[in-house]
Amino acid sequence: MRIAILSDIHANYEALSAAIEDIDRQRIDEVVCLGDIVGYGANPNECVNLIKQRCRLTILGNHDAAAMGMLSTHNFNFHAKLAIEWTTEHLNTESKAFLNVLPLKEKQYGQTFVHSTPYEPNMWHYITSLEEAAFNFQFFDTEFCFVGHTHIPVIIVVNERNELYLHNDAQIKYKNLNNSRFLINVGSAGQPRDHDSRSCYGILDTDAKYYFTRRVKYDLTQCQEKMRSIHMPEFLISRLEEGR
Ligand code: ZN
Repeated sequence: MRIAILSDIHANYEALSAAIEDIDRQRIDEVVCLGDIVGYGANPNECVNLIKQRCRLTILGNHDAAAMGMLSTHNFNFHAKLAIEWTTEHLNTESKAFLNVLPLKEKQYGQTFVHSTPYEPNMWHYITSLEEAAFNFQFFDTEFCFVGHTHIPVIIVVNERNELYLHNDAQIKYKNLNNSRFLINVGSAGQPRDHDSRSCYGILDTDAKYYFTRRVKYDLTQCQEKMRSIHMPEFLISRLEEGR
């Protein structure tokens, strides 16, 4: 089985549709979305609609929850808050109905899927160190746990001797790694922050025992023009081309 996993689209329709076109060329059986479909970009409804059509499993992100009024923007920065206010005003009834019932964490296809962390997914913690990753390995019992939230693709492995390490590559063959387990951040489809502006998502091939990251170029200029036309802060517009 080949599963494509997307996260953090943030209403960037140009990036999402480019990623989906790429997925269509990758012989994919299922597409999973790890949330943050909305917030920052100009096309929240278009993105919700495409995710709704293409993903059998979609997880709730903190920006989705905030746009729905399920989460206070108290901990959001100034720009994120502005974007959420705009998004809340522009979400249509169908989008709201879809976002309203998304789960926080799911086990499917033998793996675990969550937006933030397997530990307390409703608290929206970030995994930014190996210590935090080590702690989170206790809170899932599958071979893989896929997360988003930081917008930075990362592969963390724990082996049979309980040794934890950061895998310094965007892909991993795991058939030789007996009893290893993996915590994988699939990166961000719509607002990458790893200094690569291309849309990012991951593919797990359970037959080939192979996980790899895909990077896809998209029409950044068009996306930025749309954001300018709705008066999104310039910081949110320029960060897209810098991948930060
Ligand atoms: Zn996000």
